[in-house]
Amino acid sequence: MPLVDTLGRPLRTLRVSVTDRCNLRCEYCMPEQEYVWLSRDDLLHFEELSRLVDVFVALGVDKIRLTGGEPLLRRHLPELVDVLARKPLQDLALTTNAMLLDEYAAPLKRAGLRRLNISLDTLQPGRFLQLTRQNEHARVMRGINAASRLFSGTKLDAVIMRGVNDDELEPLLDYGASIGAEVRFIEYMDVGGATRWTSETVVSRREMVERLTARFGAVTALDEPGSTAPAARYALPDGRMFGIISSTTEPFCRDCDRARITADGMFFTCLYATDGLALRDAVRGGESPETVSKLIEDRWHARRDRGAEERVEVRDRTAYVPLATLREHPHLEMHKRGG
Ligand code: SAM
Repeated sequence: MPLVDTLGRPLRTLRVSVTDRCNLRCEYCMPEQEYVWLSRDDLLHFEELSRLVDVFVALGVDKIRLTGGEPLLRRHLPELVDVLARKPLQDLALTTNAMLLDEYAAPLKRAGLRRLNISLDTLQPGRFLQLTRQNEHARVMRGINAASRLFSGTKLDAVIMRGVNDDELEPLLDYGASIGAEVRFIEYMDVGGATRWTSETVVSRREMVERLTARFGAVTALDEPGSTAPAARYALPDGRMFGIISSTTEPFCRDCDRARITADGMFFTCLYATDGLALRDAVRGGESPETVSKLIEDRWHARRDRGAEERVEVRDRTAYVPLATLREHPHLEMHKRGG
C-alpha cells in the first residue's frame, strides 16, 4: 500500500537541503544583512543522510533534488551524490545558482548526478549585481557553460519580478535555447525570506503567457496527464518549450507529492508549513529504520497542507512570515528548507 496523506497524495519527491549557507543574497530570498545560521555540528552527516534517504525510498520516494542554501557550498558534495546515485531513484537532481559550477560540473557528473536546475534570473551583469549583491555574473555564466557541455535536461529557473527582470522573458528563452536548456519562469512567492514581497511585484502566469503570445503568436499549453511537476509546460509556435511555476496565483497543491528535509534533519511537508518534525536526533541516536519510518509515515498520513492554495484566499496579502518571526524561527526561511 503506498503511503498517502489525507488528500490521497503519495510521498514521491524529496528535496534535501544540504546547507543553509548561500553565496548570493537574492532580493526575493535573502534580502537582509544578517541571518541566523545552523550550527555545523547540527548538520546531518552524509552517512546519516544516506540512512534517512533509504527510509524515504522505502516509503515511496523515487525523486531527490539536492538544494540549499547553495548546495555546492557543502564540502565534498560529490561524495554525497556518489552515495545517492546508487539508490533506486528515477531522478537525482541538484538546484544551484551556478557560482561554483565551473569547478563542480565534472565531479558531479562523475559522481552520478543526473540533472541540474540552474537559477538564473537575468542575463545582465549590472542587474545581477543589484539582484544578488554579488558582482559575479560572468562566473555564473562560466558555470552554466561548463554544465551545459556535460549535462542534458538542464532547466533554467528564473524568478520573474515586475520592474526588475520582467523584460527578460524573451532573452532568457533565447539563451536557454542556445545552450539546450528549458526555461522555467517562476512567479515571485511570498514564502520564507521574501520579506519585501508585494503583490504588485508578482507577474502572473496568465500575464506571462499573454506577453509571450503577443510577441510570438499562440502559445500552446502542453497536456501532460499524470504529471506532478510544479511547472505547467508550454510550446511557442517555433517549437521551443518552456514552463511556468504559478505557485502564487494558480497553485497546484492537489498534486503535491513533495517533502523537504533541512540540512539539520527537520522534515517539512509543505513549503509553507510552520511546524517541522525534527528527525536528526532519531537518526543520530541510532533509532532503527522502522522507528524513523514510523515517524515519517505518521506525519505524512496526517498531512493536510495546501499552503499555497490557502495563501491565494488571503486578502491584502503581504509577506507570509514577518522578519521578526523569521529571526525567532529560522527554519521558516526558504534558504533553510530549500526552494
Ligand atoms: N541556491 C540554489 C539556487 O539558487 O537554485 C538553491 C536554493 S534556492 C532557495 C532554490 C530556488 O528557490 C531558486 O530557484 C530560487 O529562485 C527559488 N526561490 C527562492 N525564493 C523565492 C521566492 N520568493 N519566490 C520564488 N522562488 C524563490
